[in-house]
Amino acid sequence: MALLIQKYGGSSIPSLARIKAVAQRIAAAHHAGHDVVVVMSAMGGTTDQLLAQAQDITAAPLPRELDALLATGEQVSNALTAMALHDLGAEACSLTGWQAGILTSRDHGSADIIDVCPHRVRDALDHGVIPLVAGFQGLEPGDADVTTFGRGGSDTTAVALAAALKADACEIYTDVAGVYTADPKVVPEARPLACLTHQHMREMAASGAKVLALPSVEYARRHGVALHVRSSYDDSPGTVVSDTSSEAAYPQQGPSVIAVTHNPHSAKIALPGPLGPAPATLTVRRPASASARRSTPLSYASHTGYGDSFHDECTATASLVGSGLHAHPETAATLRRAMERAGIPFTLLTVTDTRITVVCHHAVLTDTVRALHKAFLTHMPEPAVPRRSSRLALRS
Ligand code: ASP
Ligand code: MG
Repeated sequence: MALLIQKYGGSSIPSLARIKAVAQRIAAAHHAGHDVVVVMSAMGGTTDQLLAQAQDITAAPLPRELDALLATGEQVSNALTAMALHDLGAEACSLTGWQAGILTSRDHGSADIIDVCPHRVRDALDHGVIPLVAGFQGLEPGDADVTTFGRGGSDTTAVALAAALKADACEIYTDVAGVYTADPKVVPEARPLACLTHQHMREMAASGAKVLALPSVEYARRHGVALHVRSSYDDSPGTVVSDTSSEAAYPQQGPSVIAVTHNPHSAKIALPGPLGPAPATLTVRRPASASARRSTPLSYASHTGYGDSFHDECTATASLVGSGLHAHPETAATLRRAMERAGIPFTLLTVTDTRITVVCHHAVLTDTVRALHKAFLTHMPEPAVPRRSSRLALRS
């Protein structure tokens, strides 16, 4: 008998019919003898609707009230799933984030989990009851106010509960078969990876992969929580994010690229000035660019005497994620050739050992991602070489 955390994302529950289907999967694990702790996201589209309603009331809702509003989405799906479980004859109990003992910092909209005191969750398990925890929310203990964690934050709830309860598995259910070599909506031939390290997953999430929220991957890495990303629509094997199984699967000789990620929401800010003719360039998420435009040049200017900044909101970024990328310049050379062959103008932004990021116009972002996937990940030698487990997964 194992203790399983099962987190269901909004794309797994776009409808009441899907809530019933998910309840069946939970009940099946429970009937098989496992202890199951469920973490629910809001039903697909709910958080966006709540945000739009707030915007219709006021352009500047107070962060405290926005959190109070957004936290309701997860409570709705959580209670409905508990009812669906009751209907299947299972005992289940829905809990808000604070009932489940999720304590956070005070940062409304981007709160960090600072402690987890899951007494009620343990109590439910001890009595054979399935506890369901509303994701993405907690309580700031000073003011006893509701907080939320930022978009995709239910992943972090699942990881934090897995760490606090020392769960045997932390299953993240979504609408695709795991973590892919690229976004399968952009690159049809992208494939699910069998396993990857926390560091690779962190690089992917930080450079635009949406499958796991970045703070959840960082939390998992800090606490050594292995994640199993799976589809709630079928029984495909999914992707394991862990440092034990995957490191062994990646003996490092030479560079290896495991995925291409992209971020359409980048805006480029160039800071011309004392560094000479080549401007210092950074990218920020586009919604933040107006404020970044205001604050960044000022803070730089006071220290370095930078002149006026230039910003370009038509930019996007695409990244190669892998290992040995800095130490082996042939990867950047292959990237350059692939981009030139595809006729796509770009600037090289970052080269680290685990990531190479390019900046391009967002109109050619899809072409960029496809060109890079084709150059690095489509033409793999056949039969698959068992150097990378992702190739093994291809054959299974
Ligand atoms: N409902 C929130 C969102 O849409 C949190 C989550 O789904 O994890 O971002
Ligand atoms: Mg998500």
